[in-house]
Amino acid sequence: MKKIAILGSTGSIGTQTLEIVRNYSQELEVLALAAGSSTAKMEEQIREFHPKLAVMWSEDAAKELKERTADLSVEIAYGMEGLLQIAVMEEMDILVTAIVGMIGIRPTIAAIEQGKTIALANKETLVTAGHIIMPLAKKKGVSILPVDSEHSAIFQSLQGAKRKELSKILLTASGGPFRGKKREELADMTVEDALKHPNWSMGRKITIDSATLVNKGLEVMEAKWLFDTDLDQIQVIVHPQSIIHSAVEYVDGGIIAQLGMPDMKLPIQYALFYPDRKPMDTKRVDFYELSQMTFERPDMETFTGLKLAFEAARMGGSMPTVFNAANEMAVSLFLNKKIKFLQIAELIQASMEHHKKVEAPGVEEILAAEAETYEYIRQVVKQA
Ligand code: NDP
Repeated sequence: MKKIAILGSTGSIGTQTLEIVRNYSQELEVLALAAGSSTAKMEEQIREFHPKLAVMWSEDAAKELKERTADLSVEIAYGMEGLLQIAVMEEMDILVTAIVGMIGIRPTIAAIEQGKTIALANKETLVTAGHIIMPLAKKKGVSILPVDSEHSAIFQSLQGAKRKELSKILLTASGGPFRGKKREELADMTVEDALKHPNWSMGRKITIDSATLVNKGLEVMEAKWLFDTDLDQIQVIVHPQSIIHSAVEYVDGGIIAQLGMPDMKLPIQYALFYPDRKPMDTKRVDFYELSQMTFERPDMETFTGLKLAFEAARMGGSMPTVFNAANEMAVSLFLNKKIKFLQIAELIQASMEHHKKVEAPGVEEILAAEAETYEYIRQVVKQA
């Protein structure tokens, strides 16, 4: 029995992880769950999966959950303390980090310090604290198993390979709902337009990140840390059908890719059972039906979020944190209809220009850069 804990259990990745647990209830056991404010959904999950510990972000949500589950023996906690309590649970084998945003940094670090395997969906933690997390994982002999479909594809394509034989990472992108559009057309795109992803069904934040191509930028940074490559070795390729989930090119020019239907359950299940593969009831790629696969260069002049991500990654230090924090705040403002679509990338750029980079920031400095960026954007938006 593998014992797992899920941070962000009520979200898109969290609920799909629990579907896999449901299918493999003889092999996977849920030890702990955490969510933000969805108490009703959390109650349902507790009743079905019987975790020992459940964590909500606010004290009020935890109180409400306690009342809802008064007939059960589950322990309820809240806030960062609660997330950290999950991270260090002794019996836990795998921590699935499926929370959104930089809030995942501290629990991820705490779990690695305890030698726990991480199934990582929460890319923002690596983007901002990859320089802390990856060396720590190496020191503790901890595996960071990617859940993001592209990184899982790269990881799968690297199985059995020698690190020095890797020449290039080919990171595919669907191009999102606005592929092919120019800046003038993007100016008036609404939240509803941006949430219509052509291939993937995901949480709201990452769906907007896909529309701006910021998600691909975050993935470039995530890949750099996970696979210890130079940025110049990562090539983004737009592949609208999302069948090739990413690939690696070896020194002899040979390319190995992972293909499949766009379904996050495959990379999640691969991470949970790695190095084994288990049967999965999912739609298969039918090459007779799939008449074509196409490829394009990403349009970084229109989707400047991707260009800015490469810049932030090249600058390093606290700049990826500023890129990420500015994006998190700008996406939230866009979702609340306070700013327009193109302003997301504009706010990221302004925040990066405003920031004085800190080299090799510690966790406190990362959180300070985040707070500074939020404050800067608040001022800019107030003055507009
Ligand atoms: P969702 O928005 O669907 O879910 C987020 C989850 O995090 C929810 O359970 C939410 O709880 C919880 N949460 C939010 N804030 C807090 C908090 N302060 N404390 C505790 N829990 C919190 O996101 P996704 O599942 O789409 O994405 C999760 C992560 O995985 C992101 O980093 C994303 O980039 C990455 N990812 C997602 C993919 C996808 O297909 N969805 C693909 C690849 C990566 P509540 O419901 O209560 O708000």
